[in-house]
Order: sequence, then C-alpha cells, then structure tokens
Amino acid sequence: MPTTHAVFDDDGRIVLSLGGFVVRIGERVLLVDAGAGPLGDVGEAVEALDRSWVEHGGLLDDLRAGGLAPEDVTDVVFTHLHFDHIGWASQAGQPTFPNATYRCDRRDADCFLGPDAMDETMFRLRWGAMSARDRLAPVLDRLETWDRDGSIAPGVDVRRTPGHTPGSSVVVVSSGTARALILGDVVHCPLELTSPDWEAMADMDQALARTTRAALLREVNGDDLVGAPHFPGLEFGRLLPGEGARQWLVSSR
Ligand SMILES: [Zn+2]
Repeated sequence: MPTTHAVFDDDGRIVLSLGGFVVRIGERVLLVDAGAGPLGDVGEAVEALDRSWVEHGGLLDDLRAGGLAPEDVTDVVFTHLHFDHIGWASQAGQPTFPNATYRCDRRDADCFLGPDAMDETMFRLRWGAMSARDRLAPVLDRLETWDRDGSIAPGVDVRRTPGHTPGSSVVVVSSGTARALILGDVVHCPLELTSPDWEAMADMDQALARTTRAALLREVNGDDLVGAPHFPGLEFGRLLPGEGARQWLVSSR
C-alpha cells in the first residue's frame, strides 16, 4: 500500500479502506479481518458511498505481494462478523484459507450465526453483501470462538470492546513495551480519534460504542501504534497530545 492516503480525497470525501492486517509470529501467519471479499461479491454501492470513497477487493493480491499465499495463513481473526470484515473467508463455497483456524468472539458468533441470528437483509439490499451465515458456512467446522480477553498467539491478545457489535474486539500486538492496536470498528475513521463528537452510524448499540471508544482513547498514548481496517490505506498512526485536540500522525513504520 502506498503511504499517501489522506483522510479526505480531493473532492472532500472521506476515504475508507475495507481490509485486514497480517501479523507474523514465528511460524504463525495471522490475518486480522478479511475485508469485503472479491469485487463482484458486493454491490457497487460499497464502492462509492455518498460521502466516502471506498477502496477494497485487493486483499489476496496484497497478500501475494507480501510473499504470502492463502495456504500460508494459519489464523483468520475477526474483530467482528460484519460482511466487510469476513468477505474473503470463503469463495465459491470453499474456505479461502484452507489451512487456517478462523477465530472470533463467541458473542458475535451467537449474534450472527446462532439460532436467533440477526437479520442481515438490510446489508444485502443496501450493499449487495452476503450474510455471515452464508459466508462462514464453509468454515464453520474450523471456527473457534473466544469467551474472554486473552492471548490467541504469543504477543497477540484480543480484548472485547462491545458496542459496534456485541462481540466487537480489539487486537493488541505487543513486543516488550511496544504495542500496536488494531481497533476493528471501534473507530472507523481517524477523525473519530481526534474529534470524539464524530461517530459512524453503523454501531448496533451506539451508547455502549461511545463509552467503549472513549475508554479506549483514554488508554491510548502517543507511543502506541494504532490502526483499523477502515483507515485510509490501512496505515497505522500515532495519537499525539495536542493543544485542545489530539493530533493524528500517520506512521511510516
Ligand atoms: Zn466495518
């Protein structure tokens, strides 16, 4: 990915990516979130939302550019089960990552896959998106859920941060005292980091999402690398103290 993505494009629209992150720990290759899937799998509406410009569809190409084949992925970790985070989980009824264990919080599995699963008709009608039930059906036998905060690989922890969905989680990657936070959809856009009165409209429980986001932002300090699957170009940045408002600085590392 080029490191030139701004929060706004030249027409003043917010830039969104729909993507995921690779975390390599020893022999393990973790893919944190799996984008919206192949371009044809979602409607054109996703590509040009009213006030946004959306980049997606290139996850497998990006993996290949990083020297990784789908077979190399050992873990697919979902921050939550919205269609734009599970899109590459399967293709044509087959697991995209044939050697991977797929992982998510149990509360999202209950919410999207359980007997009383939420109705995703709205996502299908609005975005042309496949439901979580359909997308994840080919990988259900390799889906493992977590019930509490903790480690899923050496140096990789998940932490439940509910509100956007019941089992929305943040992934924390740490080494010594350094850490990077992958925020899932707790934060959709860097603007929400610097202007807490901005918020996305997609939170299932908006009040809880607001409380969760505020607590997380209080905890984040200027040394933390922060990224999220909808940040422009999937770039990490740092949240620095500033006069009045905090400043967002994209990191080149
Ligand atoms: Zn999302």
